[in-house]
Amino acid sequence: MSAMATPARVLCLPGDGIGPEVMAETRRVAEWIGGHRGFRLSFADGLVGGVSYDAHGTPLTDATMRQAMDADAVLLGAVGGPKWDNLDFQVRPERGLLRLRKDMDLFANLRPATVFPALAEASTLKHEVVAGLDILIVRELTGGVYFGEPRGIADIGNGQRRGVNTQVYTTAEIHRVGRVAFDIARKRSRRVCSVEKANVMESGLLWREEITKLHAAEYKDVALSHMYADNCAMQLVRNPKQFDVIVTDNLFGDVLSDEASMLTGSLGMLPSASLGARQANGKMHALYEPIHGSAPDIAGRGVANPLATILSFAMMLRYSFDRSDDADLVERAVGNVLDAGARTRDILQPGKRLVSTKEMGEAVVTELDALARGKTGAAKQKAGV
Ligand code: NAD
Repeated sequence: MSAMATPARVLCLPGDGIGPEVMAETRRVAEWIGGHRGFRLSFADGLVGGVSYDAHGTPLTDATMRQAMDADAVLLGAVGGPKWDNLDFQVRPERGLLRLRKDMDLFANLRPATVFPALAEASTLKHEVVAGLDILIVRELTGGVYFGEPRGIADIGNGQRRGVNTQVYTTAEIHRVGRVAFDIARKRSRRVCSVEKANVMESGLLWREEITKLHAAEYKDVALSHMYADNCAMQLVRNPKQFDVIVTDNLFGDVLSDEASMLTGSLGMLPSASLGARQANGKMHALYEPIHGSAPDIAGRGVANPLATILSFAMMLRYSFDRSDDADLVERAVGNVLDAGARTRDILQPGKRLVSTKEMGEAVVTELDALARGKTGAAKQKAGV
């Protein structure tokens, strides 16, 4: 997109708890990018979750849903909190988030597990196993056993009950998420590992066959391997750096992406993206959000780590706007700030400097300024280390 083009429209939904605090710092970074990189961004704000329920009696109004459909990308903070825990299921804060994902048909969930060198000690795994880790899990998000029919719990007599869920995938569902994984791998190390249980599940066998066919037809330049999900769970803790992009179904992806995120050891650092199909006009629905929740225990105290949301914005630059250089710049600024010793409370280590949410946002912007001037280390001076 050129500087003269219409600005890219971002809908910001800060949500509940620490959501507004981490969003404010991300906006600071986003506005810096909008002002310095020849790429115009415009921002709109909306309510989601408990704050929307308080204002409108629903966790997401139809008007906000329409804004999300119209936006080029949506950035979300987090939803939920004890204040709304006893509401009816249909109006609970997370229903707002679920509606966003469903109505935008966000079928591919991207969860990077990246270990910044400065934080390698935070992992429960050995330094050499995780230092420099940079993998991406692409999880199918709208199909599989969480949605398959038949489902339910039935009384089968004699005091017995039977619970059923159905794992089901079609060729089209497998191909569309497979394409997302292969396309992303082309921008990384060109390696995809497809994960299922083809040895014991027909749906897994279909997954393997269809990914293989798709690869042969369209993505021969990418190296494809296959792995059973149980082995993948093991390999992720044994030698996670063997992977580049992992593509898997909804159920296995749920488990494996949580496992992979813990390799990094810090919830406040982990971004995510959920993508829909690219439409004929080139537009793609997309939602970017940190993987952490609304952290009611620390909300309003200015101590939350804003980096997961800032890194979610970097993913937006990369995947919605094809601005990889800008995404790299934001990620480099975050890495430099960490190298310089700035830490929010959740990632504090001995000898490092404790900073507030706001100070962390400011440090990233200061570092962006320094990088733009061709210098690094502004953050280092500021952190006094
Ligand atoms: P949580 O992720 O909110 O918090 C877990 C722990 O991590 C807490 O101790 C919290 O203080 C800490 N933490 C989380 N994010 C942090 C950050 N950026 N900086 C520093 N520390 C951080 O999970 P939870 O406590 O299980 O859930 C709290 C609320 O969030 C619940 O209402 C839950 O339903 C909701 N939730 C929402 C989402 C979402 O919006 N996507 C995801 C998970 C949980």
